[in-house]
Amino acid sequence: MFKSLILLPILFLAGACTKKNKVTTDGTIVTTIGMIADVTREIAGDKQEVINLIGEGIDPHTHKPLKSEVDRIQNAELVLYNGLLLEGKMGTLLNTRKEKGNPVVAVTEGLEDVELIGDADHPDPHLWMDVSLWTKVAGKIGGELIRHDSENSDHYTQRLAEYQKHLTDLHTHALMVFPTIPPGQRVLVTAHDAFSYLGRAYGIEVRGIQGISTESEAGTKDINDLVDHLVEKKIPAIFVESSVSDKSVKAVIEGAAQKGHTVKIGGELFSDAMGQPGTYEGTYIGMMDHNITTIVNGLGGTAPKNGFQGKLND
Ligand SMILES: [Zn+2]
Repeated sequence: MFKSLILLPILFLAGACTKKNKVTTDGTIVTTIGMIADVTREIAGDKQEVINLIGEGIDPHTHKPLKSEVDRIQNAELVLYNGLLLEGKMGTLLNTRKEKGNPVVAVTEGLEDVELIGDADHPDPHLWMDVSLWTKVAGKIGGELIRHDSENSDHYTQRLAEYQKHLTDLHTHALMVFPTIPPGQRVLVTAHDAFSYLGRAYGIEVRGIQGISTESEAGTKDINDLVDHLVEKKIPAIFVESSVSDKSVKAVIEGAAQKGHTVKIGGELFSDAMGQPGTYEGTYIGMMDHNITTIVNGLGGTAPKNGFQGKLND
């Protein structure tokens, strides 16, 4: 009796310490970007409510969380984010919540260093641009759903396998169509450096006018160097992005025109945000199908204009 009287308060305190700050949740899964939300919904089906924070046309590098988004993150049962400093202005918020012991998971966690592009301190965060890498990320998300809700593990395992099969088909399609671009014209110029993983996966040189974050503006020297490169290689088209200002893209087109080379805008690409919700381009597969089709045809290759499964609009 005497013993247990002493032990009880100690045990109680120990338990209270680890759980002290853990917040109560509303049962939702919150994601930071559309590409993670879409994959999570594909795997979860009707078993989970997924709420995405950074939507269509918004740039995650510079996005400051709104009050409503802070609340969403605070109340979520599970938070899935990209990491690798993509969500630059949300880092503190995510870390604070993680420290309280609530599940906050970077979906890029666990990838090998050799799979990442860039220096070890600041790898390029845009890995959804390589469909085979995003297939691995889908596996990570599936694993987190199973850990989160193990009763439905069969459901998640089966849906993950089906979804990964679609992703593999898309990746195979990309490997078929990129080589149709004439070899001298395999240069992709976009507003910011979001496409390096796509370049590595599908054999195309990639140049962003801005760096891998949209936070710094392109300088005059960057633009002049790029203009010279385009003129020299006679690159026919450069591309704008749905979530980034096209000011620097226009400066490059004007610079090339002054040197007697016509560069056209090859189309709008989805870099860090997907298309409108409810459309094909508003899904990860549709977004990448659009990008692949637009780049290949814009640079003089041949890809079916309605995409790899006939779902793209002209
Ligand atoms: Zn970006």
